[in-house]
Amino acid sequence: MAAHNLIYKFHEIPSAGLSVSYSQSSGELNKVLFDLLGDFPVYQAQLDIQGTEKSVQVKGSVAGELRQICSRCAEEFCIPFQKKFTTAYQLGNDLSELNGAIDATEGTFEVEFVEQPEVNLGDALHEQIALEIPFQPVCKETCKGLCMQCGKNLNETTCQCRSIEGFKHESPFEKLKALKGE
Ligand SMILES: [Zn+2]
Ligand SMILES: [Zn+2]
Repeated sequence: MAAHNLIYKFHEIPSAGLSVSYSQSSGELNKVLFDLLGDFPVYQAQLDIQGTEKSVQVKGSVAGELRQICSRCAEEFCIPFQKKFTTAYQLGNDLSELNGAIDATEGTFEVEFVEQPEVNLGDALHEQIALEIPFQPVCKETCKGLCMQCGKNLNETTCQCRSIEGFKHESPFEKLKALKGE
């Protein structure tokens, strides 16, 4: 049976483990991920949960698309992402039960200490996807950005500003860097 809940109490996880999957069409996470993925999210996630009364490990894989605004030319573009992670939720601060889980890890491994014996899979996925958002998104490495003089997108057209004033085409980001003296 496929499960789709977002929050599981530790004692609800059967000893054989539990598999949970989500996607934009099943929809449970669309609201949770709205601030990251927007109105038309594209993602799928598969989580395998194993645990005891005190410690639960979530092994997940998530893939999708991030819509970003290019920091140079201000056009929207998509960044595909795909990642694997393991997060252990530990009730209290006794790590002795985690040793086996750490050995069998693929991708990133994190431990979260929790006060309540429950795991919120929506929060877990939100955190993992948020880590994929670039600090300075660029639609392509060769993006020429906007002309600082006339505002034209220099990927699509050329302008005369440079030849008239000898103005160096810079991205807003580079200009900011120069101002900050970086
Ligand atoms: Zn761009
Ligand atoms: Zn121009």
